[in-house]
Amino acid sequence: MSVTQQQIRDSLAKVMTPRGVALTQAEVLSEIAVTDGKVYFSINVDAAEARSWESVRAAAEAAARAVPGVTSALAALTAERRPGAAQPPRSGVAPAAAHRPAPAGGAQSPMSKQSDIPGVGAVIAVASGKGGVGKSTTALNLALGLRDLGLRVGLLDADIYGPSVPRLTGIQEKPQLDDSRRMIPIRRFGLSIMSIGFLVDEEAPMIWRGPMVMSAITQMLRDVDWGQLDLLVVDMPPGTGDAQLTLAQNVPLKGAVIVSTPQDLALIDARRGLAMFTKVNVPVLGIIENMSYFLCPECGTRSDIFGHGGARHEAERLAVPFLGEIPLHMDIRASSDAGTPVVESEPNGPHAEIYRAIAGQVRDRLKAAAAI
Ligand code: ADP
Repeated sequence: MSVTQQQIRDSLAKVMTPRGVALTQAEVLSEIAVTDGKVYFSINVDAAEARSWESVRAAAEAAARAVPGVTSALAALTAERRPGAAQPPRSGVAPAAAHRPAPAGGAQSPMSKQSDIPGVGAVIAVASGKGGVGKSTTALNLALGLRDLGLRVGLLDADIYGPSVPRLTGIQEKPQLDDSRRMIPIRRFGLSIMSIGFLVDEEAPMIWRGPMVMSAITQMLRDVDWGQLDLLVVDMPPGTGDAQLTLAQNVPLKGAVIVSTPQDLALIDARRGLAMFTKVNVPVLGIIENMSYFLCPECGTRSDIFGHGGARHEAERLAVPFLGEIPLHMDIRASSDAGTPVVESEPNGPHAEIYRAIAGQVRDRLKAAAAI
């Protein structure tokens, strides 16, 4: 049965708001996205009002879920802060899209304004200047490498434009809710995993408006029962546009890892990624060169088909740590696409060793910064 936006609207019309009118009359509703029975919308209110709207958000989500044919519904509270308005009180509801201005050079880190995520030691981002460089594959194998070092690790797939973690992990189930209606991450390979792809379809990406991006990601960070983690790895959306910048500003990041391929173009994009994190005072933990060289699966011969070492030189030039080179290899692609990443499927193989060595460097840098 296909669900229409109008059916959702009709159901939301029964939800009353603190303004004394129905939710659909209160001029706070975003577009309603409906894909394959999955519904997503946001409620945009002033940050100062956010606390009193949490019950409306929950009621709206329940109303949407009650529409026949709806399999999942996610309502996000997007708290816009008016210019000059006072900082809202911290509550269980994160003031999601409170856009903070980028600090001037040398200003206090915007991160210092962010509350940590209860139970989570540190959050790091894995980013790339453009898509298709193997960012998600690297993020997942890096998370597994960190797990192998004895850390309790979570993975948040925040790549809202093309969530690939469901495919890379073979996870098909939906997260359950705990008693306080927080989503419980899926446990797989010893990791706690959450992806927007568990809630929307990988095949039918949704069109995201600016505030919805932040709101959805904030919910996945804060309305998730992460438990006790040493480290949460966030697989960022590719690119360095507004969505990424807002994210980098709003997520309490302790560091960022940039994934690049050796080609010049990708490196130019990687430079933009570096500049973006520098702008919001997030320390860059280093650059990983993915698809660095081709390792023939038959004879083991190495060919530098894209030219090799570009990322290492670039890292040196920019005085950013170089974390390592990952070969272009069939086993990495095949294992990822089969839902069991290579660090899991071949834990004693050469690739797992490379990812673990990179994970070791990431851990050491976070430790040196007293982040974990
Ligand atoms: P991104 O997140 O940057 O869009 P993905 O991680 O989804 O990229 O990777 C894109 C494709 O490249 C996938 O099919 C993946 O299996 C493959 N891939 C990634 N890294 C490697 C590698 N080192 N060797 C071979 N294939 C790889």
